[in-house]
Order: sequence, then C-alpha cells, then structure tokens
Amino acid sequence: MSENLTVADDMVVGIDYTLRLDDGQVIDSSEGREPLEYLQGHGQIISGLERELYGMKVGDSRQVVVNPADGYGEVDPMQVQLVPLEIFPEDMTLTPGMGLQLRDGRTGELLQAFVVEVRDDGVVLDFNHPLAGQTLHFDVKIASLRKATDEELAHGHAH
Ligand code: ZN
Repeated sequence: MSENLTVADDMVVGIDYTLRLDDGQVIDSSEGREPLEYLQGHGQIISGLERELYGMKVGDSRQVVVNPADGYGEVDPMQVQLVPLEIFPEDMTLTPGMGLQLRDGRTGELLQAFVVEVRDDGVVLDFNHPLAGQTLHFDVKIASLRKATDEELAHGHAH
C-alpha cells in the first residue's frame, strides 16, 4: 500500500489546491474537480510550490507562499511594448484588458499579450504573464501518491 510513500522526485503526486492572491481573491482551485496530477521534480508546476511539497504524505496539507520570483516572475517593464496598429486586421476592435495571441516574427513562438491602451500611434501591449509580480498563496493537500511509470518518466509528465 501507499502509506509509506512521500513526495519525492519521480513520484506522481495528486494535489487538491486553492490559489489566492494577497487580497484573498481565489484565482484557481481544484475544488469540484479531480486532483491535479503532476510528476514531481520535472518542473511541471511552479518551482516555489514544488520545492515545498517534498516529504509530504497522502492527507498532509500545507500553506505555501510563493514569491513572484519563484512563481510567474516579476513584472518586467520591457515587456510592455508599443506595436503598430497595422499588424492587426482592420476590422478588429481592440479594447483595454483584451487578451491576444501573437506569433513572434523571428522565432515563430506564440506569445500571449494583453491590450493596455489603444493610441493613435499604436497599441500598448503587455507581454508579462497576468500573474507576474503576484505573491501566490497556495492551500495544498496531497490527495494521491504513486511511483511514475517508465513511460511517464520518459515523457517527463504524469499520464
Ligand atoms: Zn506523455
């Protein structure tokens, strides 16, 4: 049975969790869903959270506070950029707060951005992660633990 298992590298961990910001606002939760399963030690979840879960057993719960640097990063002013209106389709209505996906012309990478401001000379886009700069407050409970299969280890994620 699993009672002697603890969270360690290469274990598949199931967690029930609630994520709040500093102001108490709940922004994500597994409540009403299956626990989130991930492979410990493979960077599948936020590093600041993963690090704190080592050694926990099924049924253990913990509050974990993750600083921006160990979460979604600090807000980088260089990631707020003015882009020309011409890159958008003419019939597209851009409004502040709107989320966009853009393809990087050089790397082909798909980028997520938010419209900050629409001006005469262009659109101000914020490429920071929406949770950049936020301290993350997790309530976590270990719901399940098992050894990963060879296939999961080869893939680097839980199945
Ligand atoms: Zn896979």
